[in-house]
Amino acid sequence: MDEISDRAYIGIDVGGTNLRMALVDEQGVIIHKTKSRTEIHHGRQAFFSLLGRGIESLLRIARDNGRETVAVGVGVPGLIANNGHVHVSVNLPPLDGLNLRDELQAMTGLPTVVANDVNAFAFGESVYGAGRGYRSFLMVTLGTGVGGGLILDGKIWTGIDGVAGEFGHMTVEPEGKPCPCGNHGCLEQYASASALVAAAREVMSRQGSILLAGHRLDGITTKMVADAAREGNPTALSLFAEAGRSLGIAAASVANLLNLEALIIGGGVAASFDLLQESIEREILVRAFPIPGRRLRIDRATLGDDGGFLGSAALAMNHYQRGNP
Ligand SMILES: [Zn+2]
Repeated sequence: MDEISDRAYIGIDVGGTNLRMALVDEQGVIIHKTKSRTEIHHGRQAFFSLLGRGIESLLRIARDNGRETVAVGVGVPGLIANNGHVHVSVNLPPLDGLNLRDELQAMTGLPTVVANDVNAFAFGESVYGAGRGYRSFLMVTLGTGVGGGLILDGKIWTGIDGVAGEFGHMTVEPEGKPCPCGNHGCLEQYASASALVAAAREVMSRQGSILLAGHRLDGITTKMVADAAREGNPTALSLFAEAGRSLGIAAASVANLLNLEALIIGGGVAASFDLLQESIEREILVRAFPIPGRRLRIDRATLGDDGGFLGSAALAMNHYQRGNP
């Protein structure tokens, strides 16, 4: 019989809005989790004291449960180097230029691993979620932006500088909409929640449009568009079909390049997975070679809001086990 470990890991998911933290055991069971506002606008010091209090409290809970906390994992949005240096953190500018791994190791005395948030989420899905049956897949998060995390042969592919997997910034329209990254026509401008809402508003501002009639333009949400689509509204259906088509265009290139087993979709818009799946699959089959195109399964992520910290905890476990086999 396998020995049951009393080891536990702290998984942290730093979002632009919410800070989620959890104590997780080696089987991925959440012993305790917390959620608070990230409060990044109060600056770096305030953020670190919030983080410090959260970690302290989880360490206490671990001790009370007879657990030994052995490592910490953190997921942060942005371009994160493999050594934990934050090149650019999209929603958390006070962290730019900081080595978050070194800061946290100094604070806790525990081995720490820092990763891009979607990479951490992808690793979580590969260990505990929809990716368990796959060796190689692309995780895509559809929210305010479009994130990507690439798992190749069971490992995160971070690239030489740690910044690989930016699926949302693949070009799908060469002369398309400008993107904050500096490019034009990035997938993110066509398939994120923000893009979907912007497209719905554009349609609604046209004379004679009956999409979501009676609603204020600035009150439109993706859920409202999704509800209209499920009621059979053809305009709402076509907005999802267009977003799915853009995803399929990018995914077809990925299929040809990497011959992956799956594309796993998470994030807020994943609640509308049923409205996207068919158009994504159709576009991939039209564009990709038949063998990689038919191979690529389109699945929905299963870990939801817990995916970020579960992935960070799984990265911490992986890091600890490699150091202490
Ligand atoms: Zn871009």
